[in-house]
Amino acid sequence: MAFFLTCGTHTFQSLLQGYENVTVQCQNCGNFSGRVVKRWEWFTLCFVPLIPFSLKPWHEVFCHICNFHQDVKYRPDVQQQNNGGQNIPMQNQGGNQGWNGRPAPPPPPGQPVYK
Ligand SMILES: [Zn+2]
Repeated sequence: MAFFLTCGTHTFQSLLQGYENVTVQCQNCGNFSGRVVKRWEWFTLCFVPLIPFSLKPWHEVFCHICNFHQDVKYRPDVQQQNNGGQNIPMQNQGGNQGWNGRPAPPPPPGQPVYK
């Protein structure tokens, strides 16, 4: 057991946003056990992630039964299921404009105009 400078890769994996409740069929083993995950691989030194290998995380269908990964781009049926999870309203908080429901007060009387 030697733990010197251990270089390697570490892959972060989390459920892809919008697909948290989506379970799809694994095209490898046929089970409905596929989850849509986001994977992101990093180069690690002593188990510390240093450099991301991939600029963009992969979006994959991951089957925990057979450990099968499949790119979501090959699964248009999976991508369609994301439409149901995109009901997050845009957070449009433009309330910081001084608008309090009343018209702006008239400008104060002007200062005397010297001629
Ligand atoms: Zn599988």
